Amino acid sequence: MGRKYVDCRELSGDAHCSTTIAAENDKELMQAALKHAINVHGLANTAELRKQISSHFKEGNPPL
Ligand SMILES: [Zn+2]
Repeated sequence: MGRKYVDCRELSGDAHCSTTIAAENDKELMQAALKHAINVHGLANTAELRKQISSHFKEGNPPL
């Protein structure tokens, strides 16, 4: 099982955020991305946000 990652620019719509979050599985990735979106971008923890985050999950390692 490979790693998964999500590019914050895609999920938050904030072009100035260069954060990429990576994890071993969907659950950890969701938790880390959710925490980042809430704490850094002030987004609300809603089902809608979780759906949006999971739609941006990518397989493999983040590009450098
Ligand atoms: Zn961000």
